Amino acid sequence: MKPKVVLMVNDRKSCNIRCNHCYVPDYGKRTSKSTLEETIRLQEQGYDVIIAGTETLADPMYLHAYKQAGQDYLLTNGLILLQDPDIFDKLLKAEIKTLQMSAHFEVQEELNSIPIDVVKKAVGLSKNNGFRVRLATTITSVNYEEVHLMSTLAYYMGADEIKFINYLPIGSASANNDLTLDEVQRSKFFDQINQVRDFIDIDQLRILLHGNFGPKPGSKGEVLANENCYCPAGDEIIAINPKGEIYGCPFLMESQNIGTYQNGDLLIHNTLTKDKRQTCIANLL
Ligand code: SF4
Repeated sequence: MKPKVVLMVNDRKSCNIRCNHCYVPDYGKRTSKSTLEETIRLQEQGYDVIIAGTETLADPMYLHAYKQAGQDYLLTNGLILLQDPDIFDKLLKAEIKTLQMSAHFEVQEELNSIPIDVVKKAVGLSKNNGFRVRLATTITSVNYEEVHLMSTLAYYMGADEIKFINYLPIGSASANNDLTLDEVQRSKFFDQINQVRDFIDIDQLRILLHGNFGPKPGSKGEVLANENCYCPAGDEIIAINPKGEIYGCPFLMESQNIGTYQNGDLLIHNTLTKDKRQTCIANLL
């Protein structure tokens, strides 16, 4: 099976804000024209393409590549949704259905993201324009016990889904190791996820976990972990930055280069560790 290709189109410097937890390095940006061309080229070779970056709405022309990729969701910090009166029309034309926005609640200021009131406005506007909204919430040693509260707030903000993402000390976040969950905290966090899922109906709010937490006990992830194939990085998924460097996944783009992409040729010269697939490799760095 060919891996999914995450085509990273822009970097931290291209973003309209500076979050302290951003894992994306500074590697320049790909033009929207090149992004569309490479999407088509990779699809012709049988790859599924995912468009990603920091704030990709910084250049709405990237939306042509989203449409070509058949990707119906997009990650944004929400500012441009409030600033560009035409943006929702452009998103509709690109067949985007779900907008994912960061909302870190208890640690919003600590992570230096846009104020939660601004996110709330962007969520309301998105819902009014007919989009599904997924909130992406970073879990740290400060807020890991607030799963119920954060899920409830997400529901009242009008979100359809909340996706929890593990804070990893990579990229901008490498400066603050204190926010990383230890094993006990991670286990307590999983317990709370079970409780909240029992309490809040899935039709009211879908509660999702990013794979970077590692396997949750009792989940399909645990089955995969037992077979040493939990982490798909470099195997079922790869990420290509605008310089044509290939990495195992977007969370492994600091120094774990595994190949090059040039003139349509994907050359993988280095496989990531094969014997440590029982958890998220990014946690082992
Ligand atoms: S390192 Fe593996 S498990 Fe972790 S986020 Fe990347 S692909 Fe997912």
